[in-house]
Amino acid sequence: MRIVLLGKPGAGKGTQGEFLSKELGIPRIVMSDLLKREVESGSELGGLIKGYMSEGKLVPDEVVYMVLERGIGGLRDFILDGFPRNVKQAEWLDSFLSSRNTELNAVLYFDVSDLIVLRRMMGRLVCERCGRTYNIFYDPPEDIRKCSCGGRLYQRVDDCYDKILRRLDIFREETEPLLEYYRKRGKLVSIDASGGIEDVRKEMLSILRSLEHD
Ligand SMILES: [Zn+2]
Repeated sequence: MRIVLLGKPGAGKGTQGEFLSKELGIPRIVMSDLLKREVESGSELGGLIKGYMSEGKLVPDEVVYMVLERGIGGLRDFILDGFPRNVKQAEWLDSFLSSRNTELNAVLYFDVSDLIVLRRMMGRLVCERCGRTYNIFYDPPEDIRKCSCGGRLYQRVDDCYDKILRRLDIFREETEPLLEYYRKRGKLVSIDASGGIEDVRKEMLSILRSLEHD
């Protein structure tokens, strides 16, 4: 199966994607990891990507496509996370796959409200010492000042209100039109991602099983 994962930041698609990859035995390709790996490899392409990133610029689509093509390599089945981000990239992916005589099976959209995204992300606290993550609303530490290991807890800079809103805006402007794109092509599968990890997991699996029987 070839699956694309879509969702707002904090929708849980990373966690669910990791699970799905293990459950189906299909590799998960995370766009940001591919770019990071290319930079770390010290290749010419990696140097180019590093340049854009250090200037705070977006990596151009042509470069992203090259990295993704290499990342997919000879794989027939994959779960794609972090790509496509906009309709133009989705069109590229469709033509890339059709050049290999294949197509996407499903686009899973992890649907969650902005309010839940805010709660999940703003409530997040991380331990300075062991890296454990808590959430003050869903999974609070016994002592709000420290982790069970005794390490100090802090909030990541990206988890503040303004930055989360900015990311939600970018999602609305760039990624939301993708939902319509895939809906029209009959690929979009919406999953209610407002519940707990286990509930979302169950719904996702039962939906995928029903697709396999189509
Ligand atoms: Zn700790």
